Amino acid sequence: MSTDFDVIIVGGGPAGSTAAAYLAMDGLSVAVFESETFPRQHVGESLVPATTRVMLETGVMAEIDQAGFPKKYGASWTTPGLHSQLNNPALTFDFDGHAEVQFGERDQEGVDRPYTYHVDRAKFDLILLKHAETVGAKVFQGVHVQRADLDDPDHVVVHTKMGRRSVEFSARMLVDASGRQTLMGRQLKTKVPDSVFNQYAIHSWFENLDRRALAASPKEVDNILIHFLPITDTWVWQIPITDTITSVGVVTQKKQFADANVDREKFFWKFIKTRPDLATELKKAEQVRPFKAEGDYSYSMKQVAGDRYVMIGDAARFVDPIFSSGVSIAMNTARLACQEISAAFKADKFDRAQFGEYERLQKLGTRNWYEFISIYYRLNILFGAFVQDPRYRLDVLQLLQGDMYEENPKALAAMREVVTEVEQDPGHVWHPYLGSLRASGAPAAP
Ligand SMILES: Cc1cc2nc3c(=O)[nH]c(=O)nc-3n(C[C@H](O)[C@H](O)[C@H](O)COP(=O)(O)OP(=O)(O)OC[C@H]3O[C@@H](n4cnc5c(N)ncnc54)[C@H](O)[C@@H]3O)c2cc1C
Repeated sequence: MSTDFDVIIVGGGPAGSTAAAYLAMDGLSVAVFESETFPRQHVGESLVPATTRVMLETGVMAEIDQAGFPKKYGASWTTPGLHSQLNNPALTFDFDGHAEVQFGERDQEGVDRPYTYHVDRAKFDLILLKHAETVGAKVFQGVHVQRADLDDPDHVVVHTKMGRRSVEFSARMLVDASGRQTLMGRQLKTKVPDSVFNQYAIHSWFENLDRRALAASPKEVDNILIHFLPITDTWVWQIPITDTITSVGVVTQKKQFADANVDREKFFWKFIKTRPDLATELKKAEQVRPFKAEGDYSYSMKQVAGDRYVMIGDAARFVDPIFSSGVSIAMNTARLACQEISAAFKADKFDRAQFGEYERLQKLGTRNWYEFISIYYRLNILFGAFVQDPRYRLDVLQLLQGDMYEENPKALAAMREVVTEVEQDPGHVWHPYLGSLRASGAPAAP
C-alpha cells in the first residue's frame, strides 16, 4: 500500500536529525515531527570524539566546524584532596587524585582530529536539523506526536497534534527519537526504571568564570572539568560554552534533593560550597540563565525494536551523563539503526528480526557505558588511578572517546577485577572509598 512517507521519525534532537540525514541520503522519503520550535535549549553540552565519524558521514561536520564552538581536546577530574596519595602497591605510580586525558593520545577509527566540541545545544541541534532538511528530509516543527498505531501489519499510523488540529500520517517504518520523553517506551510499557541510579541535576550558565582557577595546567582550561564534591556520589560539571560563558551543573542522588527541603538555588550553592575552591571562583562569576533541574534519570527498555519500529538515542535508554555519553549514543545508535533500516527497505521486510543486529549493538554499547559509569561511582579513585597507569591509560581513553561497541573492553575487565578485590578486602587501602551506588553486575544493567 502507499504511505505518506517511508519513515516517520519522532523527535528532531541529535538522534532524530542524524537518522533523518542518513535515511534521506539513502533515497528514502523521511518526515521528522518535532514538538518544539528550534532553536530550543537542551542539556548535554559536551561531546565525545565518537560523534565525529557520524558527522563526517552525514556531511554536517563542516557546518559544525564553522559554528565557532569551543574545541574540546580532553577531560579532567579534580577532587577535594580527599584521595591524595592513596597509593595501591598493585599499580605502578603515585596517584594524587587528579586525572586528565587528551583525546589525541589514541587513534580512533573514522575520527580525523584530536578534538571534539563543547556545544550550545540550541545552536548545535538546529544545525543538525537544518542539515537533515538540506539532504532531503521533511521537517515539521511544532508538531507533537501523541501516539503511533502498530496494529496494521503493513504500515504504521502516527497521530499528531498541530495546534488544535489532529492529523494522521502513515509510514512503512517508525523511528522513535523522542529523547527522555520515550514516546514508544511509555506507550508499549517497555520502559524499566533503573533501580540504582536515580540521579538529579541542577545547572545554569555563568559569565566570566575563571576556568584557569581549577585547571591543573593551561592545556586543561578548555577540557570538560569534572569536580568531585566531598559528598557521596556527587559531582559538578564545568563545560566551556563560549570564551566567557561556562555551563556548571551539580549531579547528585535525587534523594539528597528531596531530603534537603530547599529551593533549587539554595540547593545548588549548598553543594557548591562543599568545594571552597570552586565556590570562591563561581561567586565571582555572573549567573546568566535561571537554574534548571533534570530528573527522570537512567532507564532501559525491555526491547528497542519491534515490527516496523526502532528506538534510538535517549528514547531507547538513558545512562548517567558523567562521561558525556548522551549525544554520542544518540548519533551512533542512529547510525547503527539506519544501516538496518536501509537493509529492511531493500529486503522489503520490516519484522523485528530485521533489526536484531541493531538491538544487539545498542544493548552492547549502552551496557558498556553503564558498567563504566557503575564502576566509576562505586570506586572513583580507581578510575583516576587507571587513567594514570600507563598499562591501562589508552584502554580507558578508548571508552572516554566513545569507542564502546565491542564485547568486554579491556579496561572494563581490569577495573571490574580490582573493584571485586577491594570489595572483598575490608583492609584494602581503597576500601573506605567505596561509593554507595552498588551497580556492578546489578540486575538493572540488562
Ligand atoms: C543532567 C544531564 C547532563 C547531560 N550532559 C551531557 C553531556 O555533557 N554530553 C552529552 O553528550 N550528553 C549529555 N546528556 C545527555 C544528552 O542530553 C542526551 O543524551 C541527548 O540529548 C540525546 O539526544 P536525543 O536526540 O536522543 O534526545 P533529545 O535531544 O532529547 O531530543 C528529543 C527531541 O524529541 C522531541 N520530542 C519528544 N517527544 C516528542 C513527541 N511526542 N512528538 C514530537 N517530538 C517529540 C523533543 O522536543 C526533543 O527535541 C546529559 C543529560 C542530562 C540529563
